[in-house]
Amino acid sequence: MTRAFNFSPGPATLPEAVLQQAQDELLDYRGCGASVLEISHRGADFMALAQRAEADLRALLTVPDEYAVLFTSGGATTVQSLLPLNFAAPGQAADYVVSGHWGQTALRQAAPVIDARIAASSEDGGFRDLPERSEWRLSPEAAYVHLTANETIHGVEWRQLPEFGSAPVIADFSSSIASEPLDISRFGVVYAGAQKNLGPAGITVLIVRRDLLESAGQPRAPILDYRAQAKAGSMLNTPPTWNWYLLGLCLRWMRDEGGVAEFANRNARKAALLYAAIDGSGGYYRNEVAARARSRMNVPFFVHDPALDPVFVAEAKQAGLIGLKGHRVLGGMRASLYNALPESGVQALVDFMQEFQKRHG
Ligand code: PMP
Repeated sequence: MTRAFNFSPGPATLPEAVLQQAQDELLDYRGCGASVLEISHRGADFMALAQRAEADLRALLTVPDEYAVLFTSGGATTVQSLLPLNFAAPGQAADYVVSGHWGQTALRQAAPVIDARIAASSEDGGFRDLPERSEWRLSPEAAYVHLTANETIHGVEWRQLPEFGSAPVIADFSSSIASEPLDISRFGVVYAGAQKNLGPAGITVLIVRRDLLESAGQPRAPILDYRAQAKAGSMLNTPPTWNWYLLGLCLRWMRDEGGVAEFANRNARKAALLYAAIDGSGGYYRNEVAARARSRMNVPFFVHDPALDPVFVAEAKQAGLIGLKGHRVLGGMRASLYNALPESGVQALVDFMQEFQKRHG
């Protein structure tokens, strides 16, 4: 069996050690006599697993005590639809800083419920840069400010988060959580779908300042209520147990590898290697994102002749490099360099790119 280097944007590559462990204990979860897929989420074995995952997440991300951690299903998009229900009163405004596709999605999900305003957008420049802080128009009465820490499709990342106003900041960290140390105390809510940097699809993590859980919000069903979900330990109903288990294995793996400080170093080296290869190709490959906004996690790039795109993808696959086809919004290629992608994978990609250029130049 050979596993390729997988540059998929999400669901994305998982640590081989995690997959191996999941396989090893699939039939009998740690002496339970049943698979983790088959046991009650309210039984002692699963409760221990859930508590361990929360403790590991808190330790990995240095989550302060005044923040609750929730594990939900429905993905990051469902979170985006629930943010206004939970954190803005009827008729209240919220500000959205839009730096790419996922910022637009967050805005669209909120718009039916509240007065969702575009406080800033870099759409005019094709989302190749971040909206200049001096041009943000924040509303003093806004319930919160929303931004996307890393735009997975456009490859644009807030490398230095600017100062915000007084409203709590809600940040979508789906594609960059745990990629480097983060000061959670700057945010009201940090949320992330797990399927990029944290584990499998099907489970989403929210880190919520506890006082915000007391916001009035909109009338909503209890199942959509984050305060109720926090009180119930994210078990108001049956949670995605398998996904929670895999997420827990990934958190342990990240801890054992040295934690987020170690991943920050690895991720910086991986991104630098790939951008240098693109920039050093004499225009054969190009990435169009402003230098200050280049994502460390998702690197969209174009081959100089789009007719070569399918050839690149096919030959890369032959060379054991998969998941490189760009998103349909942008075309071209995209390499996602999440924590579980080893540095040797980026080296293999860069070697392949140089060799491809020689053969097709
Ligand atoms: N936000 C970002 C930054 C994303 O990359 C994605 C998924 N690619 C989403 C939100 C939507 O996540 P989901 O598919 O889990 O709803």
